[in-house]
Amino acid sequence: MAKTVWSMCGMCSVRCPIRVEVDDGEIKWIEGNPHILGRSLCAKGTAGISLYRDCERPQTPLIRRGGRGAGKWDPVSWETAIEYVGEKLEKIISQYGARSVVLSCRGGPFVDLPKAFIHALGSPNFTNHDSACGRNVHHSSLSVYGLGRKGFVYDIKNSKHLVLFGRNILSSLRVAEVQQVVDMLEKGGSLTYVDVRQTLTGIKATRFFLVRPGTDYALALGMINEVIRRGAYDKEFIEKNVVGFDELAKFVEPYTAEWAAKECGVKAGKIKEFVAEIATQRPSVIFHPGWMMSRYKDSFYATRALHILNVLMGNIEVTGGQIFSKGPGDCGVKGLRSLDAQVPKPEERRADGVGWRYKHFDKGPGLFHLFYDAMITEDPYPIKALICYRHDPFSCFPDPQAQKEALEKCDLLVSIDTHYSEFGWFSDVILPESTYLERDSMIATQKGAKPRFIVRRQAVEPKFNTRASWEIFKLLADRLGIGQYFPYETIEDLWQWQLEPTGFSIEDFEEKGFVSLTEKPIMYDRNNLHGKFKTPSGKIEFVSQRLEEAGLPSFKPYESPLHPPQGKFRLVFGRTPVHSHSMTINNPMLHELMPENTLWMNRRAAEKLGIKEGDLVDVVSDTQKGVIKVHVTEFIHPEAVYTVHGFGRQVPLQSRAYHSGMSDQKLMEGLLLAMDVAGGGLCLCEKFVTVRKSPRNRKRRVEL
Ligand code: SF4
Repeated sequence: MAKTVWSMCGMCSVRCPIRVEVDDGEIKWIEGNPHILGRSLCAKGTAGISLYRDCERPQTPLIRRGGRGAGKWDPVSWETAIEYVGEKLEKIISQYGARSVVLSCRGGPFVDLPKAFIHALGSPNFTNHDSACGRNVHHSSLSVYGLGRKGFVYDIKNSKHLVLFGRNILSSLRVAEVQQVVDMLEKGGSLTYVDVRQTLTGIKATRFFLVRPGTDYALALGMINEVIRRGAYDKEFIEKNVVGFDELAKFVEPYTAEWAAKECGVKAGKIKEFVAEIATQRPSVIFHPGWMMSRYKDSFYATRALHILNVLMGNIEVTGGQIFSKGPGDCGVKGLRSLDAQVPKPEERRADGVGWRYKHFDKGPGLFHLFYDAMITEDPYPIKALICYRHDPFSCFPDPQAQKEALEKCDLLVSIDTHYSEFGWFSDVILPESTYLERDSMIATQKGAKPRFIVRRQAVEPKFNTRASWEIFKLLADRLGIGQYFPYETIEDLWQWQLEPTGFSIEDFEEKGFVSLTEKPIMYDRNNLHGKFKTPSGKIEFVSQRLEEAGLPSFKPYESPLHPPQGKFRLVFGRTPVHSHSMTINNPMLHELMPENTLWMNRRAAEKLGIKEGDLVDVVSDTQKGVIKVHVTEFIHPEAVYTVHGFGRQVPLQSRAYHSGMSDQKLMEGLLLAMDVAGGGLCLCEKFVTVRKSPRNRKRRVEL
């Protein structure tokens, strides 16, 4: 019989609300939840059905038989796999203590579960992928507002001008956000896009600034200078809410539009024209602080400058600006009960040093890459086990070769995932998670101007011998004697337990798949934001106490990025709308849409090297080489070459993705610990590579 299942997409980390039509145990249709997304879904979301049907994913728990990465596996029962992991963990804990176990996950609304597990085990070492993604944005937001990057939502739809620095918003594709951008453009709003290459977002933009790689900070400083010079800022708001405006004004004095033009390549007149325009549009002007800003040595300060520009616009808590994220408390509702909140906090210091060696960073998930340092040096203590839940560090962190060397110090590597990750293939045990269409998940809170509770419901029975994460962690917890922190047997028990303080029940989700906690958007009184900023001063801090106490400047003098040495290019990377990084590269439908990545190269640079459109090229870093087809174009800065991230996979059981395209991570040699000390984000675009015509046979897929 046909039925509707309200659920949440799991094809990327946005987790859009969806409606799934199921008939006779088969999925017939997936669309965006019409109450929230007006049925829209992106290409990846539509391809969820092909993830479910794909046989090239782990179908039962696997225990490694040969050497790590050799690809020899024993398929085992869940009982055997849980016993194996439990026994190994017990041995490690008895020898090195619980602190020697690290758990990393993808982040998102369901982290309560893995976080509770690792804390209940007695280890403080919960982490995620964010130091290769949004940590600089998060920490810069904390330094300015005392609130993390999710402390605000952006009312793009009603803004008069959206400014994006390298945020390719139409390709990174959060469905609701894309709808907002389209609405804004239809209403006559302006879009300014800044990048080292032209993109899907850039071609829809009103204004496109092509900049030299690594000079975002210079352009932002030039803009701040011009805004202050013209007096085009909200004086009243700043006087009332900001600490350090005079210091900022003094700092940016030398960074004129003319100076910025020389650094980034955008004409001074164009910068001034832009500022003249936003001066008439503020406060409904949004400088998006970025999402993935782990790029250059100064990305933290670049994103901090964008936060400062927002404040100068006075765009806080106004229509078309930045709006404080509201939670259940703002609606007079109690929040969901948290598993992690019931667990006594481990007293040990974190092995990544966050919270004690690096006091200016948010303890939260810490910085994943620093655990590799701890593994190698055993400082502050040895790390002996790594559990990666829906996180593939070999595909999102630099230098998988260096990562593998560090992991040799570990006695246990476990991957919990729906597909074979590169890390999973190297690990000791794979615990296969059911796909999002085959599993229920915990209830989650979605904060914003109109907060809601939302739930993922299982649409169909698991096709293979896989389990939902709430079952996997419960099984592990029971085996390790910490089952009391997971007080449920079924998902219904868990939902009821979570919902108890809120006054809602799971039946309230039946009609639309979510429970809205307010009818109308909640706005604070903009004239009285007392207590809303969580900085030490309680105000917006241009001069940041937290940074200064850590010995870091609030305003960092600009340093010009290196030009690539003769014959080399800066390797940069980005997104495509049809893949979610490495997660979907082997998805049958999405593979058909985009089977491999290409290397974008500036036409003049290519001509000098005798390289033509479609040629195979060798991209060489220190010891590593990738082979890839080239795309010759005017629309990239001559200093850079660009590729889409996530390709060049090395799992033979993924027949479609195997050696298809090139892995940029492999080429980022020496960057594993190259972090922006102020923001904690990695410097993923600080690698120069050589490009030359490849002698390789175009028909041969496997590198020799
Ligand atoms: S953006 Fe696309 S892939 Fe991501 S959750 Fe939404 S529909 Fe799914």
